[in-house]
Amino acid sequence: MAARARILALTEDSGRQGQPTLQKILKEALKLVVVGVDLNPARVRIEPLPENDRALHAIHANQWKQQPPTRDTVILLSAIAARLLEPAGFVVFHFDTDRVWSQRESSENRQKFETIIRDGVRRILKGGAPLPVTPRARPTLTAEQIEAALSRLLVLSPCYSMESWLYQATNELLPRCQGRHSSEEHQQLISAWAADRTRLDEVHRPKDEALPCVADHHNETLSKSFPADDVWMAERSFHESVERMQACTALVEALGH
Ligand SMILES: [Zn+2]
Repeated sequence: MAARARILALTEDSGRQGQPTLQKILKEALKLVVVGVDLNPARVRIEPLPENDRALHAIHANQWKQQPPTRDTVILLSAIAARLLEPAGFVVFHFDTDRVWSQRESSENRQKFETIIRDGVRRILKGGAPLPVTPRARPTLTAEQIEAALSRLLVLSPCYSMESWLYQATNELLPRCQGRHSSEEHQQLISAWAADRTRLDEVHRPKDEALPCVADHHNETLSKSFPADDVWMAERSFHESVERMQACTALVEALGH
């Protein structure tokens, strides 16, 4: 069975739970991009980079945000470009906005993604970068082909961070908090988040300041209970990321088959 989409899934989160958490959230997003989508892994392959790949060093520990790009970042840019040149190739890149929703326009991370990652991949696709992407000779691409390839580089950028989405799994979240301590303040906070799904996008540093009791210890578990429909309907950063994916015609066509 030929894969309709081969998605390289990249996350800044270097922890053990980072990749499975991203994959679960991504699948929930894809179900909203194309309702009724068949996510059979033979059809829609979601793949991490191989372990120990040097490109991983660039994604983790904020290295990708450095100017000029490090050697590892150049390897990352090449890996992204190579995937975008493959038939049915897509890349999904998760990075935290590090801003609440109402201040997203000032997000350095979003700006750096565009100038360092997207523009860097564009340079490689134009043939202007010194590093060869594939062993075979690279075909010369037209400007349209380059922009079409770049449109398949997709972003998940939660406001404030991935925990802002994961903490929406309030039914799972509450017992995790209560298991650590008895905080009426936290219980009220979690109830408020459950009652109004727009609120978490306005919480500054959720895992470090709002709920250090839970932090990022249970991300994978929380991702399994992510209430995607409700969070999508709140029309904040998750909705924004889904909308961006829906704007990718190639993705919608690949999933819609
Ligand atoms: Zn707590």
